[in-house]
Amino acid sequence: MTTMNSELTHLDQADTAHALEIAPRVWWVGHVLDDDVFQCHVYLIEQGDQSVLFDPGSRLTFPGTLRKIEEVIPFTRIRYFVCHHQDPDITAALPLIDEMTDRPDAVIVTHWRAEALLKHYGLKMPFWLVDQHDWRLPLDDRELRFVFTPYAHFPGAFCTFDPSTGVLFSSDLYGGFTARPTLVAQDESHFEALRPFHEHYMPSRDILNYALSRIEQYPVKIIAAQHGSIIPERLVSYMTDKLKHLDCGIYLFAQGNTDIQRLSHLNETLREITQTMLLYRDFRDIADRLFHVVSRNLPVEKIDYYARLEDGTLLTLSHETRFSGVVGDAPAEVLAILGMTRPEWEMAHASMDPDLHGHTLHTGFFCSRHTEDDELVVTMPLFSPQRERIEAAALIYLQRENDVTPEQEQVIQQIAMPLQVALEREMIYRSIDSKRKEAYQRSIRDPLTGLFTRVYMQDVMERQCSLQDRDENALVSALMIDVDHFKTVNDTYGHPAGDEVLKQVATVMRQAVRDTDIPVRFGGEEFILFLVGTTPTDAGRSAERIRSAIETHAFEVNQDAPIPLTVSLGLAFRDPFEPLDSLILRADEALYRAKLAGRNRCEIAVTQRSGVVVVG
Ligand code: GH3
Ligand code: MG
Ligand code: MG
Repeated sequence: MTTMNSELTHLDQADTAHALEIAPRVWWVGHVLDDDVFQCHVYLIEQGDQSVLFDPGSRLTFPGTLRKIEEVIPFTRIRYFVCHHQDPDITAALPLIDEMTDRPDAVIVTHWRAEALLKHYGLKMPFWLVDQHDWRLPLDDRELRFVFTPYAHFPGAFCTFDPSTGVLFSSDLYGGFTARPTLVAQDESHFEALRPFHEHYMPSRDILNYALSRIEQYPVKIIAAQHGSIIPERLVSYMTDKLKHLDCGIYLFAQGNTDIQRLSHLNETLREITQTMLLYRDFRDIADRLFHVVSRNLPVEKIDYYARLEDGTLLTLSHETRFSGVVGDAPAEVLAILGMTRPEWEMAHASMDPDLHGHTLHTGFFCSRHTEDDELVVTMPLFSPQRERIEAAALIYLQRENDVTPEQEQVIQQIAMPLQVALEREMIYRSIDSKRKEAYQRSIRDPLTGLFTRVYMQDVMERQCSLQDRDENALVSALMIDVDHFKTVNDTYGHPAGDEVLKQVATVMRQAVRDTDIPVRFGGEEFILFLVGTTPTDAGRSAERIRSAIETHAFEVNQDAPIPLTVSLGLAFRDPFEPLDSLILRADEALYRAKLAGRNRCEIAVTQRSGVVVVG
């Protein structure tokens, strides 16, 4: 026999015909009945004549419970009968207990909402209301804490936590349906017993999560559920986490309709929406998947998204443009709500006149009708989770005559949150991407002239060269350009004027070349222009065009008379497989010859293959 522990291994071979101690002086006095998927567990805290019985149970099982209690203590030692809610499987035995109990201080411990029902048993035993006793019950050596878990599933539902043992008497929460019941849950697969119980029984995930969040404030070691199995310490947080993510409350959508298949189908849809968010990163994939999932429940034609970027730019993301995000305007419905805070939206929403605008209002969105196409347009604001402001919106175009049904309303409401997150995420990616692009632009552009840097030149020209190596017609030539007597410009007009002149040289160069050419600031007042796919004759013409454009340009700086300026040029045509360095070196040698020959001219480099090229 192992000693008592919160993993409950001491109960491994336990005989469920007897009371079983699950934690020090905490006893299980319930039932494991064959062929009963709905086991009812009753628990007893042994505390002398202040003992506590939890959820006494039904008339059917009470004789067995009584026998087990008496194995531990005389029944009359029990002073507190805790009823976590008012269902018959918990309270039907109360009249029997009322007759057996003759101590005047015995009480039924419950919430006032349950009292309102239980008083109809006409019991003589008084009620002791948890809500009137600060949600705690002091005993000799422990103080029980009552945890309010409203509406899960009963308005006054609560649980009890015993801090001295870590046992949570969880009532219906953590309850399960089990085909082959074990007193203690064996492993994670026990969640499958919890799933149908909660899915169909808890009214909504919000309510369930609220209850779980209350419970999580306590250091729970053992969950003594009223149904199913007792949950040992190692499975407590697992079950809690799984329950938190469970889609439950499908009867909410039912509106009197009990077509379980359809409801389960809807439930599945909602689950898929959540999974989509976890599985996909790209907004395009998420939007495609959501459209697919949603169109099973809604006659949806398309969903367009509008999002505002940090700089105020408005992006349209639609299927037609593969969600690439096109800058532009948005429909009036969207423009009307963009930028609103949540209170502003709520006010605007509440004050919308349905008759006036042909709108119908729903929680979280509104519908309007586009008469030309006979479509119903759902406008759904998407709040930025961080700023609580409408930064985006979805327009869902529905092909239908009437307003959306309550069930469809649920689907629309369910996709709001995932879309909000997906769009926010997309906008963050985009902003990171554009910052990355800006940084790249900075690294490839010379700040003074706006021409490309040598870093960029190296990268791009290596590629151009290898292109030429594969295709002889993809000709590459390099035109080296150096300002003549630039030192004199600096010396005469000052360095800032020199800078201005360099800027203007760059501008003139850019105007004289084609878009496909690559102008680079090679050094101080040296530039290199790569001509791609240009014949030697055309390259020579480009060189001459630049030379004469500089010569004739009026370099006006500081409103003085224009500074006369010329450049010298060296032109080299790349031989196939020639390294970039070599090409540049030859252009530079040609430039040197141009300087020697008197400046303001262009010299052609000697090619390695065919000697001097004469430009016509
Ligand atoms: P040459 O006709 O032989 O090329 O004569 P040069 O005076 O142009 O040649 P040199 O290479 O001797 O002088 C270049 C000068 O350009 C020296 C340097 O101070 C100046 N310079 C280099 N970069 C800049 C710049 O960014 N701004 C300014 N204002 N001057 C620069
Ligand atoms: Mg120079
Ligand atoms: Mg120079």
